[in-house]
Amino acid sequence: MSTNSPVGSIKLSSIAILTMDQPPVNGLGLVLRTAIAVQLDRALADPEIDAIVLTGGEQIFSAGADVREFGTAKSSSAPTLSDLISAIEASPKPIVAAIAGNCLGGGLELAMGCHFRVAQRDASIGLPEVKLGLLPGAGGTQRLPRLVGVESALNIIVSGQPVPAQKFAGTALLDEVVESGVVDAAVAFACRVVAEKRAGKRARDIKIVDPLAEPFLQFARTNVEATSRPFPAPLRCVEAVANAVSKPFDEGLKLEREIFMSLMASPESRALRHIFTAERAASKLADVPADTPLRDIRRVGVIGAGTMGGGIAMAFVDAGIAVVLLETSQEALDRGLGTIRRNYETSLKKGKLTQVQLDERMARIAPTLDFMAFAEADLVIEAVFEEMSVKHDVFKRLDEIAKPGAILASNTSALDLNRIASFTKRPQDVIGLHFFSPANVMRLLEIVRGAQTAPDVLATCMNLAKRIRKVAVVAGVCDGFIGNRMVARYGAAAGQLLMQGASPQQIDGALQRFGLAMGPFRMADMAGLDIGWAARKRRAAEDPGAQPRTAADAICEAGRFGQKTGAGWYRYEPGKRDPIPDPAVDEIIEQFRRESGITPRKISDQEIVERCIYALVNEGARILEDEIAARASDVDVVYLSGYGFPRHRGGPMLYADTMGLATVVRALKRFASEPGAEAWWQPASVLVKLTQEGRTFN
Ligand code: NAD
Repeated sequence: MSTNSPVGSIKLSSIAILTMDQPPVNGLGLVLRTAIAVQLDRALADPEIDAIVLTGGEQIFSAGADVREFGTAKSSSAPTLSDLISAIEASPKPIVAAIAGNCLGGGLELAMGCHFRVAQRDASIGLPEVKLGLLPGAGGTQRLPRLVGVESALNIIVSGQPVPAQKFAGTALLDEVVESGVVDAAVAFACRVVAEKRAGKRARDIKIVDPLAEPFLQFARTNVEATSRPFPAPLRCVEAVANAVSKPFDEGLKLEREIFMSLMASPESRALRHIFTAERAASKLADVPADTPLRDIRRVGVIGAGTMGGGIAMAFVDAGIAVVLLETSQEALDRGLGTIRRNYETSLKKGKLTQVQLDERMARIAPTLDFMAFAEADLVIEAVFEEMSVKHDVFKRLDEIAKPGAILASNTSALDLNRIASFTKRPQDVIGLHFFSPANVMRLLEIVRGAQTAPDVLATCMNLAKRIRKVAVVAGVCDGFIGNRMVARYGAAAGQLLMQGASPQQIDGALQRFGLAMGPFRMADMAGLDIGWAARKRRAAEDPGAQPRTAADAICEAGRFGQKTGAGWYRYEPGKRDPIPDPAVDEIIEQFRRESGITPRKISDQEIVERCIYALVNEGARILEDEIAARASDVDVVYLSGYGFPRHRGGPMLYADTMGLATVVRALKRFASEPGAEAWWQPASVLVKLTQEGRTFN
């Protein structure tokens, strides 16, 4: 057994067992590849060794490439994964892979290079590269169809979804499937191979003979082309598998490499890889070490059973965590519970939930009108009206009754969390947990860190976010935190375009073609226009004159609050959600332009995208400057998972990098120099600085 090496080697009679040991997932980075190659050479040179077992032990085989190496010199340094697989495949001594746990991506490609494979029944087999906008680039597209057939291979490669090993029992992929003890089983298998003098089987030698392959490939091409846009990888996966059928192995391998390299250089893959690393980075904070002790969260309370409180309660019970739900009246409580039940019934009708699951989930919610029900809660999340006086009452009472160490959280969208914390004698236990609507569906959770929030409260909430399957990003305290602060500028840019001559449908159309799930006016109609209106009135009352009347105010004054009133920036047929352009809206806007002395001009789609997206980027940069977000990629995660930013563009900040920060700064300067332009169009100093230094956000 060698020490210090990530590959251990022991001899058992004439079998060498090479065990990968590179935590956490046996990522096939250069260090591990080199160690495997060294141990392999040793075993091959050892005359006492007749066969080799390659394994990661009983927990994991390998989760694949080391993503951190992508795009660096290390990923192409010898031995590459392809070199290693070739060496294994060419070995004169039989090599048996012993597979348990994850055997994904490069891990599966490595196993397919071996001559035999023994797997634990529940091992997870997959090629997830497509999820990063790539294809398996070390022979996966050529060997898998040879081992499991074209249809199965295509499903795995194009979907990227892992499949339990037992599904491949009886295919050439797995020679033996066992319940447990996979390493022993593989050693026994290797002994039999030696005793029977069986020759090693090589996947590359298998010829695919399948009369249905071509029609199936044609079907896959049509289907994948229709559903995968704008991502190029899925269709190119089909192309690579087609090569496995029609071309000699080495040629198919060469073409696979070429496709891999071209996908690696594509902006779509860059965006997906960025998202992958950004989501992982977001859960780390420099001043909250990974070993920060966590508070135990078992009993959760939610205050308010309205839109957000109901959704938050669902997010918890969906994850198996019971919730006590408080309201001010039986009527409000019944209404809230009724909405939750109806939501679950919709899932039931769609077949996403069984009646038993529905009943279980409802039973996890304990409704109450009594604040004392929170006395033993480990975490209480408040989702009452967005008014400081109401928050004040709630937090004062919580402070009186909650047990020491309980985490007191607010779902406020924009109120000052530090003031909310000051209503208690334990500001260190107060935090913002800003969910997005609908809270049981939207993945984003902004965790708002108050000036005094304790590190273990933060760490506990980040851990909790994982339990309820949310992507958490930590934000500092400011008006709107990260997402809503940015969306305010974006909305303002859209509002200016509207005043200058564009229609709501033109602006929405341009941004939806850019890739956003919904343009700003459709989004506003869905969220309800009255919320923003109330906020503007509140600000105007606090600071008269700072809040000039807008077209949005005029729309609200006409009683148009969006979808819920059947009319907003669009009109809606009863019970439908399709926005229909409304001449009445055009009239309100035109009147506004006249009153403001504006002669409308023609505005291009490109200008709409530039103004709206660069407004986002600029505010994102200010958020970094103000240290509201820890890193640019956090801003991207917020925008991707909370605001429908197109994944193939990787978030506003990565988009700015892709366009070139100099281009962004030039455009912002142009907008800022127009007569009457607001000061916020001035490029943020961090943007100017990065541009001068020739650097990027990421
Ligand atoms: P809502 O009006 O739908 O629900 C608020 C509920 O709180 C009502 O049912 C009300 O009866 C109840 N309530 C009020 N005072 C209470 C008290 N003292 N004790 C117990 N219950 C009380 O509002 P909402 O949209 O769910 O918003 C709630 C909070 O979430 C606000 O702070 C809001 O800013 C924030 N928020 C809203 C959204 C959104 O999209 N609606 C998104 C994120 C955050």
